[in-house]
Amino acid sequence: MSDYTAHPLVEGFPGKSASHGAFGWSSLWLLDDGERRVLVDAGQPAYIPLIHTGLERLGYNAADVTDVLLTHMHWDHVANFTMFPNATTWVGEQELRWAADQPAGTKFIPDLHVQELLRRTSGVERISAGREILPGIHALDSAGHTPHHLAFLLERAAEPLVFAGDSVKNVHELQTLRADSSLDDEASTATIDRLRSLLRDTSGTLVPGHDVGLRLVDGEARRVRPQRAEISYFVDGATGEQDRSIG
Ligand SMILES: [Zn+2]
Repeated sequence: MSDYTAHPLVEGFPGKSASHGAFGWSSLWLLDDGERRVLVDAGQPAYIPLIHTGLERLGYNAADVTDVLLTHMHWDHVANFTMFPNATTWVGEQELRWAADQPAGTKFIPDLHVQELLRRTSGVERISAGREILPGIHALDSAGHTPHHLAFLLERAAEPLVFAGDSVKNVHELQTLRADSSLDDEASTATIDRLRSLLRDTSGTLVPGHDVGLRLVDGEARRVRPQRAEISYFVDGATGEQDRSIG
């Protein structure tokens, strides 16, 4: 069995809008060992064209994705699991149950996607923390942001990768151990501390829910490359400013 190579199809971005709600610019990575194509999180609806072009760039299409691992039941991490006709979607049993128990309209929870995951009798595997989900990929408890959030540790790779989802959303949270937008601040801090120790012990890279990969350098959380995003707006013809870069 060969190692996985890990490709970001969309890199996360740690922005939020004061006027228009969450961006939902989450991390979406593909793991490929030549046999399986595993997505870690499924992203938000606006990512659909990015997923297609990202897969095409690697010589694949949506039908080639074999597995989708979901860290938690928020819209910007879940929405596109339906676009992979041959994939098994792996979802935390307790997280799914918790999401299903929330009233319709609870912020960040995509009601219809939750119902669809519950409804499907094939192609959905319910999992729990502490298990090896696929060879070399382990599900870890990372509660706080949501009550039953999962992180995934990829051991079968040139360097270990910890996919933290929103249990660690960005470089700031890994550095300070304090999480924005958590349902349980104390649990979040304990989780970030644990994942930080794992990172130190494995000398690996952590992929946060909304940032580029992070490493610990002399105990400091550092991005492996500069953060970057572009926002443009619709203009009439070629006039007007089209692109503004931030970050
Ligand atoms: Zn989230």
